This record gives sequence, structure tokens and C-alpha cells, in this order.
Amino acid sequence: MMSFVARSEGMADETCEIVARIRSVLPAGLDRVALHEPRFGGREREYLNNCIDTGWVSYAGPYVHQFEAALAQACEVPHAIAVSSGTVALQIALTTAGVGTSDEVLIPSLTFVATANAVVHAGAVPHFVDVDEKTLGIDPAALSAHLASTAERRDGATYNKATGRRIAALMPVHIFGHPCDMDALDAIAVEFGLTVIEDATEALGSRYKGKPCGSLAPLSALSFNGNKLVTTGGGGAVLVNDNGVADRIRHLTTTAKLPHRWAFNHDEVGWNFRLPNINAAVGLGQLEQLPGALAAKERLWRRYIDAFVGFSAARVFQDARFAESNHWLVALILERGSEPLLESVLAATHEAGIMTRPAWTPMHLLPMYRDNPRSGLAATESLARRIVSLPSSPFLAPA
Ligand SMILES: *Cc1c(COP(=O)(O)O)cnc(C)c1O
Repeated sequence: MMSFVARSEGMADETCEIVARIRSVLPAGLDRVALHEPRFGGREREYLNNCIDTGWVSYAGPYVHQFEAALAQACEVPHAIAVSSGTVALQIALTTAGVGTSDEVLIPSLTFVATANAVVHAGAVPHFVDVDEKTLGIDPAALSAHLASTAERRDGATYNKATGRRIAALMPVHIFGHPCDMDALDAIAVEFGLTVIEDATEALGSRYKGKPCGSLAPLSALSFNGNKLVTTGGGGAVLVNDNGVADRIRHLTTTAKLPHRWAFNHDEVGWNFRLPNINAAVGLGQLEQLPGALAAKERLWRRYIDAFVGFSAARVFQDARFAESNHWLVALILERGSEPLLESVLAATHEAGIMTRPAWTPMHLLPMYRDNPRSGLAATESLARRIVSLPSSPFLAPA
């Protein structure tokens, strides 16, 4: 059946075995299983109807504030500011952190393209660093070694010796919801005077040493895109611990308009980045179901782990000891030497109606980021050939 992709009998056998093991976890009777699908089983419809009935559809509506308060509570931060996407949440976080033209920002190459795009939209330059196979996030040891050889400290700042640009910030990404080793990364940030901004867009509900992702840096970003664990259709949020910074973000994202009952006065070039009330209404309904969704995703992850016990060519990614992931996307990791299985597994699962995905093409291999500064990226390139994201919707694991 799979001879068109398999290069050997052994590989065809292993591919079939992987498909069978994935299938054993999924509920019977589904002919197409998406990677991650939204479900609206709570009060979303009631809240949406309320927006339409009252006419409060835009960003000044009451659900925006309720959604922000619920987010701040879930992430244990003083302020959440809802915006129109995760990408602009990252961009505004960078800008308000003082990152600007010709600064470099350290980010993993193994991430969704929005991480890098946000850096560019903030006027800065993505500088790619390698990841750690234990967390899938930035590797602290590799980062430290890279900075020791390529950066120099001058006047309280850090500069890239090769480009002459300031290295201003470090933006770890919790890949697929798995927390990075933040304490180790923070120590490096302190040593080099870097601002830390958390790309927690995939990690709502994840915890690092008991603390929520999104609360681990002074500025963090969430995403509520349709494929994320909590969705508003499209949207995002900036999480902030400082009152003044929160006020500034609210101001900048609402055209920098000065409060007045009727006059239109603006004191700088702002954006229209706020989340509309109708999106916040959906988000509030979704967020009320977060605990149940997290429990279901943990069940699904454990079922996948069990399904791959005793299989030698691949294993399900498991959290580091300090991490409790939200398991946004469950990752099957092919062992080193089993890379040729990647294409055949993707083809065979799709053939079987199971919508798996490879990891993203690493950023440094995309045409617009080919010439960016970077460290050695051996782990990134290896993992990109070995990750298969498995269908991870919470409803796939009924209790
Ligand atoms: C989803 C995502 C984003 C951006 O979110 P959007 O809401 O799609 O703009 C940024 N970074 C990562 C790692 C993501 O997965």
C-alpha cells in the first residue's frame, strides 16, 4: 500500500506500525481527523448574541474587559491587554520594551514564522539560536557559548561583534506548549543585559516550576488564532506586570488617542491593534472551558505515550521535569537514523485521513531570513527532520 513512498520493506513496516499506533489512540468512526480543531461547547453563542443585541461589537465593549480580567487571572499576571493577533502582541511587546531599529533579537530558528516577522515589524533583526532536544526551546548552554564567542559587552549593552548591532532582547518560545528552561535563560539575559520577552503564544495553561507560562517575563504574548487551544477566531494578548507599561500599551494600541469626551487628539503615531468585543465574547466563552480542555489534552498525550511504548523508531515527546505542558500539539519524535520515515509517515497518515504535520521549516532556511545572523543550528536542523505533530484536539480524548 505504501510502496510508493517507502524505500525499503522495513521502512514500509515501520510506517504502517506508526499509523496503526496513532489510529489506536483516536476515537473510532472519524474519517478525517484535523491537527487541532476549535469547538464551541460553552457560552460563546450566548455572549456573541449579546454583542449583536446590544450593538457592542467593537473594542470598547464589556467582553474585552471581562476577557482581559479572566486572562490575567488564568496567567497570574496583573495586566492582560487583548489585541488583534499574536503577531502584533509580540510586536507591541518588543516596541514597548525599547527594541527598535537595527537591534537584534535572539529567537529560536525552530518556531512559527510569526515570531521572526514580529521582530522585523518592530524594526529589529532576528538572530537565530539553537534549541534543546529536552525542551524543544532555546538551548541555554548553546546560547551561552554562542554569546561568549560572538558578542561583546560595551557601555552596559551587548553588541554582535560581526554586525556591530546591539543585541537587545531574548525571546524564548514555548514550542508546542512545552516550557523552555526559563531560569537558565534568565541567568544569561542578566549576564548580557538582555530584555526577555516570552512568546507564550502556544503555551496558555502551561506551567514552568508551577508558574504559568506568560508570567515568566515582564512582557509576554499569547495568541488566540483558530488553531490555538483557546481561540477568538483571531486575536492575541500582551501580558504585563508593570502598570505604566500596561497603560502605554493600551494607549499605543488605540491610536494613541488622548481621553476626551469628544475631541480627537493623539500624541504619537499609534496603532489600531485592539481586539473587538465580538472576538472577546468568543474568547471568554472559550476561556471558561480551559481547565476541561487542559485535562482532556493531558489524557490524549498520555494515550499517545502509551501507544508508542516499546516502539524503537519513534517516541512521544515528554516534558522536562520542571515543565507541565498544555500539550497544545503532541509531538512524535523520530529517533536519530529514522529521518527517512518523516515523509512516508506524513504521506501515509494523510492517506488515512489523519492530518499530521512536520515541524515548521526552520526560519534560517526561509528565503527572507537566509542571511540573518545565527548560531550553529545542528539540533534545530536535526529536529526539523524528526518531528511529526499529531492530531491534538481535546475532544479526541473523551474521559
Ligand atoms: C501562533 C503563533 C504566533 C502568532 O500568532 P497569530 O495570532 O497567528 O498572529 C507567534 N508565535 C508562535 C510560536 C505561534 O505559534
